[in-house]
Amino acid sequence: MTADRATQTAMAAATDSGTSRYEMRIGASWCPSVSGATFDTANPYTGVPWATVPDGVPADVDAAVAAAQAAQDGEWGRMTGFERAALMHRLADILARDAEELAATETRDNGKLLREMRGQMEYMPAWLRYFAGVADKLQGEVIPSDRPNFMIYTRHEPVGVVGAIVPWNSPLMLLMWKLAPLLAAGCTVVVKPSEYTPVSALEFARRVEEAGVPDGVFNVVTGRSAELGRALVEHPGVRHVAFTGSPAVGIKVAQGAAKHFARVTLELGGKSAQVVFPDADLDHVVNGVIAGIFAATGQTCVAGSRLVVHRDVRDDLVQRLVQRASTIVLGDPTDPATEMGPLANPAQFATVSGFVQRAVEAGARIAAGGRPDAERGDLFYRPTILTDVDPDMEVATQEIFGPVLSVLDFDTEEEAIRLANSTEFGLGAAVWTNDIRRAHRVAHALRAGNVWINAYRVVAPNVPFGGSGASGWGRESGIDAVREYTETKAVWIELGGQTRDPFVLG
Ligand code: NAD
Repeated sequence: MTADRATQTAMAAATDSGTSRYEMRIGASWCPSVSGATFDTANPYTGVPWATVPDGVPADVDAAVAAAQAAQDGEWGRMTGFERAALMHRLADILARDAEELAATETRDNGKLLREMRGQMEYMPAWLRYFAGVADKLQGEVIPSDRPNFMIYTRHEPVGVVGAIVPWNSPLMLLMWKLAPLLAAGCTVVVKPSEYTPVSALEFARRVEEAGVPDGVFNVVTGRSAELGRALVEHPGVRHVAFTGSPAVGIKVAQGAAKHFARVTLELGGKSAQVVFPDADLDHVVNGVIAGIFAATGQTCVAGSRLVVHRDVRDDLVQRLVQRASTIVLGDPTDPATEMGPLANPAQFATVSGFVQRAVEAGARIAAGGRPDAERGDLFYRPTILTDVDPDMEVATQEIFGPVLSVLDFDTEEEAIRLANSTEFGLGAAVWTNDIRRAHRVAHALRAGNVWINAYRVVAPNVPFGGSGASGWGRESGIDAVREYTETKAVWIELGGQTRDPFVLG
């Protein structure tokens, strides 16, 4: 099915202005906001508004949390892990069937390449299937007692209603990283997608309904204001907040959740380093560095935005990268030949331009790009490589979230590790070398939750993903991710029938 036809077959009704109208999903209802307000979302490539969605308010969050709690207390809460797993497999089948349609929606909303979004949508069901396999194995254990008259066992119970807040860069994939383990754990969820990409979560909700997941398990509130996200984070009925976004908002989320002791996972930004030693295979390095910083127009949390390269190979590598960057095809994200699409919104465009301009003023040199590409469209920015970057410059320490690579160089392994670890982030890193000892030694020394050796930007449902420092708290994916959504309960059973001294512990 083509992208256009896919979008036309979406559930939405047409509005007078020609956009498709969507409603929120709360409990069993498709509904407008109680405010009655709506807003339009635009296609970043064409700049044309294409969908109208409810502009939610805190009262909508109240209704959604109540619906999620009702499902938790109702049919869903009574289901066994085996029953939940069956529903998760059914949803996975539906998502696999509709991967093309969902990919088209994502591309319309965030401007990323259709081929990237298609890849994400085709892989996404794997998370549901992996965690469906966990849902029926959430077993506790019998703990040997240190006294003869007790038996003790543990249960892993769902934490309850989860508030899931996701950004615009990979809306459904990042939602899935939360959804699959929380469904396995038996939780329910209220999702608040980004104001820039509100539609795909609503399209997703339709598939959840079709799969037969009980009403109220999956709720979506859309809206433009930060107040809406804040209302979800601070809602006393939300027991865990699963957030993906910027460090600045992450701090607010942690503070808001702390007010009512909700648990929090934070997947935040990064300033990931690709560390290149002189013995590395430079053809592979070029490919990995390009994938790390120019794929997704650099709008990915694990963007390999710092190249930390040995002085002996720096000039050769930079020359090859400049050559490859100059041939990157910018254009229509739905065209299979396109390699880089636009930035996702005007604010993002201004951020990227501002970083580059200030870097040049501070003494950095533009080796490639460093300018918009107005011929392609308003939000296009050329793949940019900056040399003569000082490690203290903001382009070397702060997340840009765009196609801008900063080159730093080193002479010794110690210097490479120090440079790579010199930001407040700790999300991704790569080591490029053919020396197996050095590869592992450096991988162990790098402060990052995900380290790739002679590769970059690979993820899987069974592998923990996350960061430390300003990159966040907790892990998504991997078998332990389900523990983020469970409370462990210890149950003590007195077997002897005796009384004991009430004034002594134990
Ligand atoms: P953002 O922090 O601006 O927004 C993220 C979400 O938070 C949006 O849905 C937004 O509406 C909501 N929000 C805004 N203010 C809020 C508040 N006060 N309370 C609650 N919610 C609020 O981030 P963004 O610009 O949408 O996304 C880019 C950021 O996301 C980058 O920093 C990127 O690195 C990060 N990211 C991290 C990962 C990861 O897995 N570590 C993945 C993708 C993106």
